[in-house]
Amino acid sequence: MSLVLVINAGSSSFKYQLISPIDGTRVAKGLVERIGSGTGHISHEMPGVAAISRDAQIADHAAGFLEMLRAFEDSGSPLLELGVTAVGHRVVQGGDEFFAPTLIDDHVAQRILDLAVLAPLHNPGEHQAIVAARQVFPSIAHVAVFDTAFHQTMPPAAYTYAIDQEVARKHHVRRYGFHGTSHRVVSRLAADYLGRPVEELKQIVLHLGNGASACAIDGGRSVDTSMGLTPLAGLVMGTRSGDIDPSVLLHLMTAGGYTAAELDELLNKRSGLLGLSGYQDMREVRDGVEAGDPAATLALDVSAHRLKHYVGAYAAVLGGLDVITFTAGLGENSAILRERALAGLEWFGIRVDPERNWEPGSEARRISTDDSRVQVLVVPTDEEREIAAQTLEVSGALQL
Ligand code: ADP
Repeated sequence: MSLVLVINAGSSSFKYQLISPIDGTRVAKGLVERIGSGTGHISHEMPGVAAISRDAQIADHAAGFLEMLRAFEDSGSPLLELGVTAVGHRVVQGGDEFFAPTLIDDHVAQRILDLAVLAPLHNPGEHQAIVAARQVFPSIAHVAVFDTAFHQTMPPAAYTYAIDQEVARKHHVRRYGFHGTSHRVVSRLAADYLGRPVEELKQIVLHLGNGASACAIDGGRSVDTSMGLTPLAGLVMGTRSGDIDPSVLLHLMTAGGYTAAELDELLNKRSGLLGLSGYQDMREVRDGVEAGDPAATLALDVSAHRLKHYVGAYAAVLGGLDVITFTAGLGENSAILRERALAGLEWFGIRVDPERNWEPGSEARRISTDDSRVQVLVVPTDEEREIAAQTLEVSGALQL
């Protein structure tokens, strides 16, 4: 069996999965966290074997990799004997130079580090993980799969910010968009579900996880998306504000004495559902709504309003609409958010069936009525499997 190790690195952690890209079988998954701080931790799961969860000294990502190898050994299946054919690395920011999954050599690794100027929270940790993984697995292919790549088909009208273009060019300021791996795979799974070629469909995909973004997809190509230069723009998220008037920052700097670092922390970590209601998780917000908590009710209302705003905007951008698909943690599970976001859009041809919407499920399913002109679907995303598939495609093609 050909297996791909998928690495999804953060600044002080990385998640990993060992996947068969052909049938999606998961051979192992785990999380190495608190890298570089006092006591690190690893949790490791393999079907049929006792899970491992233990503290360890993990000075950096390279040490984290060795810890992961040790966990495989302790589970009775040394990773190097499992037939790993390639490593797929999720990379958040690929700038405007990476359009597709890319085989990593020294130059590509360096460019990923250089792009940290646009993604200081993400690319440095991802680069460290790439360096560590290439040391541990020097003789197999490493492939970078970029969150931004799918959105490189956006036209200039969608990705250009209306500021002095000299300043924009100098600092690479434009909309890049993120969650591209998920938007791409979910739009294809939605087309499969409907039995229609993706090339024929005008779609909106709503990826609603801890981070959330909307994407307008015409014929399988991204034509607009709600995240921007960074993953802070667009929809209301767990702790991120999404869209705000840029002058709010200037106002808080001049009138409130906030520093850039404080604003960064405010908008990324203390805003969104958390800032509005005190709850970061939509399940707690929903409980608050049911208990009559006005702050939770406002958090749900603002989130749903923002989603409706983007659905309307993207129907206009696409010049028509065949399907809306909800995906990721909230998209797949929060019936109340789906209901509120699409309420009142019947005149757009969007009719959600309440029974179908509230029926729990874990498979791809339709939640629109039979007479809804626009199909509304819930489709589970699987970014790791898609990264594994793209990794195999790139590494396999190069072996020919
Ligand atoms: P990530 O962006 O970290 O991959 P996920 O896609 O796993 O996030 O989404 C996690 C979020 O999904 C949680 O923070 C929570 O708000 C939401 N969520 C998960 N399960 C449910 C549920 N049953 N009902 C409502 N919201 C849920």
